[in-house]
Amino acid sequence: MTKQIKPLPSTTHLAPTLAQRVQQLRDFRNLTVKDLAKLSRFPIARIEDIESGLESWLSASDRQLLAKALCVEPAILLEVETRTGLGDNQEKQALAQYLSRAILEGARDLQCPNCGHTLRCSIQAGFDLEGKPIRFPKAFCTKCPFVLR
Ligand SMILES: [Zn+2]
Repeated sequence: MTKQIKPLPSTTHLAPTLAQRVQQLRDFRNLTVKDLAKLSRFPIARIEDIESGLESWLSASDRQLLAKALCVEPAILLEVETRTGLGDNQEKQALAQYLSRAILEGARDLQCPNCGHTLRCSIQAGFDLEGKPIRFPKAFCTKCPFVLR
């Protein structure tokens, strides 16, 4: 069973909250709430909760299921999840990796994972321990203290 997956157009401006983004991606895939529930194996009520903003973050395994159902990388959902308190290290690392890769690939209109404001991104040239040239992605938020490390 193979299915051709339509990639997200690079011009897509993804919605800034998990609720809006899940709905946006679901619409993009032409799925109903019921379809998405079936694909992700979530109860319909849970999809509704996520899309209405009642649930604003997912466990790693749930995120994977939902991302798979929407044909996106889990990081696409992770970057707009919000939770009270600080996320654990693994989550932060995944987010940093996602941002780093996006910056190196030329993304410039990334949003701050803390406040949703525009990140100022740049690529800095440097050298690794063996003296080989490498590129470091840099980003900081123009509104809150977020810095990509
Ligand atoms: Zn910010």
